[in-house]
Amino acid sequence: MRVVLFLLFLLLGSLFASDDTVLVKAKKVGEYVIVDGVNKNPFSVTVSYNASYQNLKSDKKMPMLFVLNPLMKREVLRLHIEKKGFVLKANYTWTIGSKDAKHDNNYIYRLPYKLGTKRRVAQGFNGKFTHYGMSQYAVDFEMPVGTEVYAAREGRVVKTKDDSNIGGVTRSFEKYANYIIIEHNDGTLASYVHLKQYGVVVEEGDQVDRGQLIGYSGITGLTKGPHLHFIVYRAVNGTTRDSFPIKFMSARGIVTEPVTGKWYVAK
Ligand SMILES: [Zn+2]
Repeated sequence: MRVVLFLLFLLLGSLFASDDTVLVKAKKVGEYVIVDGVNKNPFSVTVSYNASYQNLKSDKKMPMLFVLNPLMKREVLRLHIEKKGFVLKANYTWTIGSKDAKHDNNYIYRLPYKLGTKRRVAQGFNGKFTHYGMSQYAVDFEMPVGTEVYAAREGRVVKTKDDSNIGGVTRSFEKYANYIIIEHNDGTLASYVHLKQYGVVVEEGDQVDRGQLIGYSGITGLTKGPHLHFIVYRAVNGTTRDSFPIKFMSARGIVTEPVTGKWYVAK
């Protein structure tokens, strides 16, 4: 029997577009084609999967959207082989985090720099330079390269990068950003971005406390000047995410919307 199996894998829109840490792969088992999702990462991922096929049958509607828990493999789709010579064409995208995360809107974040020091917001929510779309509720705090960065909320470090020393003002520089991603207990994620080279002092898998020193700011990635880009978000599907308009504690009380150009003292 001749089996024709086309599997086209596309990885798009992911921070880690070139790696193979998330796989959705099909295999023939008896009279079925079984599609397994494999997540080799220590964090949940959200996957969008689409397939078209001939001579196969499934009750699942396409496209599919599902979450793969950390370091897990599970069957996501089973197709019955109706006739010899079946064809399956599939593609998928994935993003870090679970689409099922619900942000705790009562949480008051700590400003991510040393207590008692003040920083100017270079770009707040809905900032015109880069804070739109998926980055709508990001905040940029100006700070010289090498400024201490502290966890704004407790959680688990799920991804870090600090090997880059490249930065610039066009989109092509985006992939050179150093960062720390922390997962909170409500499943949302915080990213601390543009860190300096070798400026990460925590490791993937570490549990960090609110206010713990996690790294040093820099000027890597897409940036005009040295600053810290901070954002809290969740995955929506395999290509997009949603950010949250978070609240911060400052020396003058709770800040519900950091204003571009204003200074805030960490408390
Ligand atoms: Zn930013």
